[in-house]
Amino acid sequence: MSQIRGALEVLRKSGYKVTGPRRQVLKVLSELEKPVTPYEIQAILQQRDEHLNHVTIYRVLDLLCDLNLAHRVLLGGGYVKCKLGEGEGCHRFVVCRGCGALKEYANKALCEEENLIASDFGFRTGQHFSEFYGLCAKCDCEFSV
Ligand SMILES: [Zn+2]
Ligand SMILES: [Zn+2]
Ligand SMILES: [Zn+2]
Repeated sequence: MSQIRGALEVLRKSGYKVTGPRRQVLKVLSELEKPVTPYEIQAILQQRDEHLNHVTIYRVLDLLCDLNLAHRVLLGGGYVKCKLGEGEGCHRFVVCRGCGALKEYANKALCEEENLIASDFGFRTGQHFSEFYGLCAKCDCEFSV
């Protein structure tokens, strides 16, 4: 439960109640290293005899994403719990194309560089977003043997 204490704190501070479903979805996300879909979350909860309908799960995920406590990942599809704190630049992802494992990082210099590119087009940037594929250390070993 300790991995989600910080997230529950953010919910409270933002004026949201810590409801059962919010706690349950956060807990599932915090246990996994790769993105999961709402249906997969539902299935995992079902194995624990905890039942949530997928509309509820979608609503919880929307809220968690709004608060930057979770992210929707395009590569592979699904949601992950945010592993970074606040104030470090935009949150970005590298996804293993072997096993689907995901790492989250932030890089302020990258944000600034992208702002420069955008300003060349006359754009003022807000949020940055990036995801790319790679091979994690584990999969890199397996594939090179
Ligand atoms: Zn994040
Ligand atoms: Zn940024
Ligand atoms: Zn991998």
